[in-house]
Amino acid sequence: MRVPGRAAPPVLAAVRAPGGGAGDAAVAIYHVSKSYAAGSFALRDVSLQLRKGEFVFLTGPSGAGKSTLLRLLFADERPSEGQIVVLGRNIARLGPRAVPRLRRRIGVVFQDFKLLPRRTVEENVAVALEVLGTPRREVRARVFAMLKQVGLQHRRYQHPLSLSGGEQQRVAIARALVNEPEILLADEPTGNLDPDLTVEIMDLIASAATRGTTVIVATHELALVARYGKRTLRLEGGRLAEDAAPGLRLR
Ligand code: ADP
Repeated sequence: MRVPGRAAPPVLAAVRAPGGGAGDAAVAIYHVSKSYAAGSFALRDVSLQLRKGEFVFLTGPSGAGKSTLLRLLFADERPSEGQIVVLGRNIARLGPRAVPRLRRRIGVVFQDFKLLPRRTVEENVAVALEVLGTPRREVRARVFAMLKQVGLQHRRYQHPLSLSGGEQQRVAIARALVNEPEILLADEPTGNLDPDLTVEIMDLIASAATRGTTVIVATHELALVARYGKRTLRLEGGRLAEDAAPGLRLR
């Protein structure tokens, strides 16, 4: 999408390049800054690309800008400067109808699960398909299959608050993945869970990447990051301080 009278920034040209290379990018971020108040930056001059099907950790201390970056990718906010291209769409230029269309292609998992307490487990997961207008019979079948994948089919008629924290997060993951999103954003998904559940939940999230979903997990738990040995983006004071390839240790 060109702005009249302005040359397309290189990232846009690159994302549209046919036949591999940068054309495989699920996310391309080009010199992005986000400022909530004059003179202070939640993100500052961040550039990076994520390939389709890639699994990355986004790490850094509290206040580093991790959640801000995820909110920008979900088109919850717009960058103050720079360009963000998600699944070929430039976030800064999405119209009101394009935002929900893009979001349907992105699954989201939060630290505090954000389940609907008055709905059953099955209904919580079904919501993600109902908004797409999926026929009721298909919704039931897909929700059941998804709940089976996360090991919760026997809990489908229960309400979220009757489940353990780990089970609630598995419901949230089922909801995020049931419509086979192209991107999964997880913001501190294990932050409210006991350490013994952390690996179980992370394994579920990581399994989405093996099926072709681009997965971004924000976490400040470095032990978790080390365990998986995946590409790791480290933010510090809003800047991208490190982009470590898979298998490399963070400094
Ligand atoms: P992290 O997720 O790494 O903890 P955040 O993205 O939440 O970091 O925050 C980065 C910085 O931006 C912090 O200094 C935070 O106070 C600030 N910030 C985040 N969201 C807002 C907001 N809506 N309004 C004002 N400042 C914000």
